[in-house]
Amino acid sequence: MAEIRVEHLHKAFHGFVAVQNSNFVIEDRTFFVMLGPSGCGKTTTLRMIAGLELPTSGRILLDGADVTFKRASERDIAFVFQLFALYPHMNVRRNIGFPLVSTGMKRAEVKARVEEAARILRITDLLDRPVSGLSSGDRQRVALGRAIVRRPMAFMMDEPLGALDSEMRDVMCGELRGLHDRLKATTVYVTHDQTEAMSLGDKIAVMSHGVIEQWGTPREVYDRPASVFVADFIGSPPMNLLTFHDGLQPGRGSVRVGEADIGIPAPREAVTKRDLILGVRPEHVRLSDAARLRGEVFGTEYLGTTQIVTVTTPHGVTRARLAANVKVSIGEAVGLEFRPDRISVFDAA
Ligand code: ADP
Ligand code: MG
Repeated sequence: MAEIRVEHLHKAFHGFVAVQNSNFVIEDRTFFVMLGPSGCGKTTTLRMIAGLELPTSGRILLDGADVTFKRASERDIAFVFQLFALYPHMNVRRNIGFPLVSTGMKRAEVKARVEEAARILRITDLLDRPVSGLSSGDRQRVALGRAIVRRPMAFMMDEPLGALDSEMRDVMCGELRGLHDRLKATTVYVTHDQTEAMSLGDKIAVMSHGVIEQWGTPREVYDRPASVFVADFIGSPPMNLLTFHDGLQPGRGSVRVGEADIGIPAPREAVTKRDLILGVRPEHVRLSDAARLRGEVFGTEYLGTTQIVTVTTPHGVTRARLAANVKVSIGEAVGLEFRPDRISVFDAA
């Protein structure tokens, strides 16, 4: 059992705010991903949860117990710093068993636990091999083994796949997810890679400049981004963003962008702020001769089953994800239509 609750967590380094008033709950057995660009405060947050860094203010609760001021060694959390950090002079068995041996555990118990971890990671046949000759993937499995033999309440993983080439990263991504499905241990996983976050996370927290912009399921952050930052950071290509100026009126299901009336989900409340931003994912854009929003095809990117068509308009660049067999030519004048129920509206920053 491990539910992690973070309340008003704040961390400043000599006046520089690295983490600002963070609030989120990591439910027991969840694979929770912290996603954001370099320097946004992911590692600092993870280190505070693990007890390697003291917060400036705020609280961390593990299964309801306040651990904010408890030492890392009292928290029963395994921190996977870098999956490559193995002891080169020890074989696989001793590398995996090391954290147990150092607690004084009996040899027979260590052996049983190491062999169980090896079975879970499917590296039983490597147990008596030196780590020096192993492939990068197998070295990662060994390093994971060293974390799981402890049977901790939770795992913290800080960009564990960062050092791998993209092919190996895909393989290990799948294995990490599979491992989590078997162990069901609460895991907090840090990455700057949105594809990794989307495929691994039960929940994703998106961070920017020390602030959690949004947290929720991959579907929630993708379908209903809470801010322009999230809309732009998640999705490839990212959400199309168009500025409009006439605010929102309650019950009025459209806004004016240039010449065009664009259907939107009718707002409940008025927003009088002049500049707002309309967001629509490329897969919710289609070409339509009748549409009033006009543009010119700038380029196409063929992706097999779909293609990304880039259209320049007087209001900026808009990308549409269309079926690969839709014929478009560069320079062609087109009209753009958006799916009204899939439109988001954001405050202009
Ligand atoms: P991320 O892991 O998202 O890349 P970090 O949590 O490592 O970001 O860092 C967030 C910000 O806090 C960065 O600007 C970083 O330079 C700063 N920072 C991190 N640790 C320290 C420290 N020990 N002293 C001073 N500044 C730090
Ligand atoms: Mg980091």
